[in-house]
Amino acid sequence: EDDQSVALIIGVTGIVGNSLAEILPLSDTPGGPWKVYGVARRPRPDWNADHPIEYIQCDISDPEQTLTKLSNLNDVTHLFYVTWANKETEKQNCEVNGKMFKNVLDVVIPNCGNLQHVSLQTGQKHYQGPFEMYGEKKVAHDPPFHEDLPRLDAPNFYYTLEDILFEGVKQKQALTWSVHRPGTIFGFSPYSMMNLLGSLCVYATICKHEGVPFKFPGTKEAWENYSHSSDADLIAQQHIWAAVDPNAKNEAFNISNGDVFKWKHFWNVLSEQFEVDNGGFVGKMSMVEMMKDKAAVWDEIVREKGLVVTKLKDVGVWWFVDLVLGGECMLDTMNNKSKEHGFFGFRNSKSSLISWIHKMKGYKIVP
Ligand code: NAD
Repeated sequence: EDDQSVALIIGVTGIVGNSLAEILPLSDTPGGPWKVYGVARRPRPDWNADHPIEYIQCDISDPEQTLTKLSNLNDVTHLFYVTWANKETEKQNCEVNGKMFKNVLDVVIPNCGNLQHVSLQTGQKHYQGPFEMYGEKKVAHDPPFHEDLPRLDAPNFYYTLEDILFEGVKQKQALTWSVHRPGTIFGFSPYSMMNLLGSLCVYATICKHEGVPFKFPGTKEAWENYSHSSDADLIAQQHIWAAVDPNAKNEAFNISNGDVFKWKHFWNVLSEQFEVDNGGFVGKMSMVEMMKDKAAVWDEIVREKGLVVTKLKDVGVWWFVDLVLGGECMLDTMNNKSKEHGFFGFRNSKSSLISWIHKMKGYKIVP
């Protein structure tokens, strides 16, 4: 049928990709019924296999493979780009991420006659600067961040992606776009390159196994000050809203839960959920250092508890924990712009935290 909505999710096993793959096929999802294709680099994992989508294994950093695997998808109406590559320097990030996105657009735009919308996910680093400049207050904008702030004078692969997006949509009349800028995401994906909550669950599990207290590895600022987060399902809902609602076209939107929390409170929740002694704040520690010899311990826990087989390097993203909890969280304007344009979604961050922990336990990623 010509009027069917057809989604192509790039990064379908990622932290938001997996939520899109779950939500898009539901019967009450706006713009539906949706037919859904999902692309990721590795073979389809079991925890993604329940979603009624067509899974395509493809490495989008390879232009030939992208052409071969995606050029026959001629019915795509909406593209959701929720992936990235993490390189040493931001200059390399710009180059590599730009190529990946361009490889996809170069195939999808000319081959999909009914393509209507491209939804791109970037993030709060748009206002804060790249990871290599994190914590340098003179680089970042003064929070709370709003969407109209000018670009920073620093390399940023998000700017590269936006520019490629703007060039891409010009090629086709009536093709619209949206950009989505979350903060730290709470969600489900054992394959995510940045999963703070999943990593903390793994850390709590290791503490419990070793009979040691679960100590907060971050700074006092991160422990005591306000933080915010972005629920992966909420981000997916904002992507879908922007894809189908005329009021959302050709705009960038922050997306956060709409409330604030403190890690010193959430540390109680994590400690209770994993039945581990709350070691509280003791001073900044390096998770990368603490976890560098724990791969075999994780394998043992996986065997002992009958968990889905995962590698510690996939489920524990320690550099990211060190980074996010290494300083004060910078807040945004809690979706003011998105609300003004008609998206009123929100999450209670504590309920969000608990629901993702339950999901990880339900799928036997953690005990
Ligand atoms: P992710 O790391 O959770 O998932 C990436 C997905 O892309 C996976 O499915 C992976 O298999 C796939 N993938 C990776 N390389 C690929 C390739 N070459 N070819 C095909 N598939 C490939 O992704 P994410 O965290 O949702 O990141 C999307 C955007 O969101 C990024 O710009 C990121 O910076 C931003 N962001 C993430 C967070 C977070 O907490 N995770 C927070 C704010 C912003």
